[in-house]
Amino acid sequence: MQELLRELVLADAPPGREKEVREIVIRELEPLVDDLRVDSMGNVISTKSGQKDSPFMLIAHQDEDWALLLTHIDDNGFLRFTRLVGHRWDILGRRVVIHGNQGKKKGVVGLAAPHIIPMKELQQGYRPDFEKMFIDCGAPNAEEARSMGFEVGQYVTAEKHFVELANGRLRGNCFDDRVGIVSMIETFRRIHNHKLAMNVVGVASVQEELGTRGAGPAAFGVDPEFAIALDVSPTGDHPNTKPGLVPVKLGQGPALLMADQFHVTSQVMNIWISAVAQKHQLPLQEVALRAPVHFGTDAAAVEVTKSGSQTTAVLVPTRYFHTANSIVQKSDLESTIQLLVKCLESLDELGE
Ligand SMILES: [Zn+2]
Repeated sequence: MQELLRELVLADAPPGREKEVREIVIRELEPLVDDLRVDSMGNVISTKSGQKDSPFMLIAHQDEDWALLLTHIDDNGFLRFTRLVGHRWDILGRRVVIHGNQGKKKGVVGLAAPHIIPMKELQQGYRPDFEKMFIDCGAPNAEEARSMGFEVGQYVTAEKHFVELANGRLRGNCFDDRVGIVSMIETFRRIHNHKLAMNVVGVASVQEELGTRGAGPAAFGVDPEFAIALDVSPTGDHPNTKPGLVPVKLGQGPALLMADQFHVTSQVMNIWISAVAQKHQLPLQEVALRAPVHFGTDAAAVEVTKSGSQTTAVLVPTRYFHTANSIVQKSDLESTIQLLVKCLESLDELGE
């Protein structure tokens, strides 16, 4: 699983350009399901048949949590951009990959050496305006930048890394939502020979980071009775988090989402998932991520599509997502997959 996660992290899939991750998902899921199709937006919809036709959906998003879009090439060959996903204050100094007409090329978001910033500005907590940021792609002028294949509208992604840290922790980019994708694939692998009570449909959605744009159309086609979104949860176990704001900790198992900015999750499903976890002695945290936290998943979009569904989300605790470096704990991934497998084996108990 770790090698698959590494491959998913190192692939580039900014929202709206998810092809690299989509190809991995198709390669992995096709042998494990009875039907796999890709809709016109790029959602991958995989079905494993069960005794009842009514679908139970797992949904994780293909797109990643940090991306820029080129808006302008200046006379000196510097590339100007707007932000698609990610924090403004996390852009400076980033190593980036520009997806130009001649393939991927590397660059860096330039940040002036402190030596040439007036001391007074440094003392006042110097932070350059977002509008003044630029990418240095190595070109000395606009003509050269264009001849390297760069144009307005092209995507810029983060230069990726995936490293094992101490204590079973992993550091990488875009664990949001590669941990959801890998959990979904591994769950399908482990239930491959199981007889299930319902059709189980795995959706790898697109454009979640642009406002859950892929989930609705995918859910419209599937029309699930129940759905679980697989995504990341912020944690409150590092400095600079308010006590009590987010009780989720790394290493304590997946977090069951009670509510977020967009909806309150299904009580029927939450009771069922908690009972499954308890019965099989699997760790499970609970979290409500409403204001002042701002957070949402595909579950809210699926819930109100077509005739509606019962939806909730199972979240892998993840430190620092939507930034250059995020951290997860391997045991949380494993217990997320174990919980999902046990849930799918207990579909006949859902709603009882
Ligand atoms: Zn996400």
